[in-house]
Amino acid sequence: MTFVSQGNGPTRVSLVATYELGRQPFGIASPAAWLKEAGVEVITNDLSRQELRPEVLNSDLIAFHLPMHTATRLALPVIRRVRALAPRARLCAYGLYAGLNAAVLRDLGVEYVLGGEFEGELVKLACGHGGRKTASSAEGIQPRLRFRVPDRTGLPGLEKYASLQMPCGDRRVVGYTEASRGCKHRCRHCPIVPIYDGQFRVVPREVVIADIRSQVEAGAQHITFGDPDFFNGIGHAINLVREVNEEFPELTYDVTIKVEHLRRYEDKLNILRDTGCVFVVSAVESIDDDVLMKLEKGHTEADFEQVVSLCREIGLTLSPTFIPFTPWTTLRDYFELLQTIDRLELVEQVSPVQLTLRLLIPERSQLLDLIANDFGAWLSPFDRERLVYPWRHLDARVDRLQEGVTELVGKQLNIARTQMFEQIWKLAACELGEFGQPRTPVTPSRATVAYLNEPWYC
Ligand code: SF4
Repeated sequence: MTFVSQGNGPTRVSLVATYELGRQPFGIASPAAWLKEAGVEVITNDLSRQELRPEVLNSDLIAFHLPMHTATRLALPVIRRVRALAPRARLCAYGLYAGLNAAVLRDLGVEYVLGGEFEGELVKLACGHGGRKTASSAEGIQPRLRFRVPDRTGLPGLEKYASLQMPCGDRRVVGYTEASRGCKHRCRHCPIVPIYDGQFRVVPREVVIADIRSQVEAGAQHITFGDPDFFNGIGHAINLVREVNEEFPELTYDVTIKVEHLRRYEDKLNILRDTGCVFVVSAVESIDDDVLMKLEKGHTEADFEQVVSLCREIGLTLSPTFIPFTPWTTLRDYFELLQTIDRLELVEQVSPVQLTLRLLIPERSQLLDLIANDFGAWLSPFDRERLVYPWRHLDARVDRLQEGVTELVGKQLNIARTQMFEQIWKLAACELGEFGQPRTPVTPSRATVAYLNEPWYC
């Protein structure tokens, strides 16, 4: 397919993001660098912070970055609108959730669907060498790219995005980069698996450091490493944080590391602490070993508790994330999760939104067979607006509790975590029929911890 420029100049490509968890969109900055290097005119538009720019509608190719579920849901009405307003433009979608939702996107008029390692394919498309309408990267074969330093010119400044709230009350400007992409693991519920299928790619250190340098020059005081698992390439990760810390000793950062890796590389955790890591996010998901087994997470509840102790011993803040509502979760399981968080003195370290989350079953989920076998009658057909297979719990009280907790948290995004936890506790106890009975008092927080002030999650 060769694009005919709508004007007299070079091909004009618009890169559009709808939501990247309150971050300046890396998924726009990275391909922007590739496209500009190829001589393409690039327009960037982050709809989480900007209106739809009129120039976008005059582009030859309009490409939507869909890295996550919420971003994709938000993109659907935008794609419809753009399709109607710019009938001559070719539409493309790229990123993890583009590959997962190819059929829905095509029905909206998206012609090209690219997957996880998309930059090279986008350049080919823009330069007239792209042939396949569904790129191999959307089907699980990830090319090996020669990564470029992302180009952030034209995007809103870092200060317009979520910031890091420090325990002392200070706020730090946050940048974002990726030192690796994909993941070596195959957890059953993870949307990365159908696209990367165990493949992971390391971004060269010099590229990551150049990207961090440009963000520090733009005001960043903290960097979020968005790698699905920062310790997938342990040598790369450790060398990188040492080098970054040497060049930017005042810079803080956060990373995401699975429980299994936190245990395996426990001797490396002090290096994280000493190089400016202010917290480690870890997808614990559940404290029920049966559920963890179904999700193939590679850790147990005991591993999680061990990691909590380890991190506490060395003074590294752990920020656990959960999927508390699954088809297998009982009311008592939920209450036990609250009790465990309380007992382990983690109330301040768990964002309240984590206590609302319901297992998402997107298209191509590895969980589909398992859930259909266990709960077939409670699984509905794919919902093309919500982009999930909706499920109902066998016990209606669990669904009611999930709705109640979500409403509580949604209405009070800015209250203290301990207060929110108390309210959730009461609601769960009430649903369980234990309201009024003696209970462990909510542990007063040890200390408030640093956190990113973007309340949403997936
Ligand atoms: S370790 Fe994390 S990123 Fe990797 S497959 Fe499991 S859930 Fe996904």
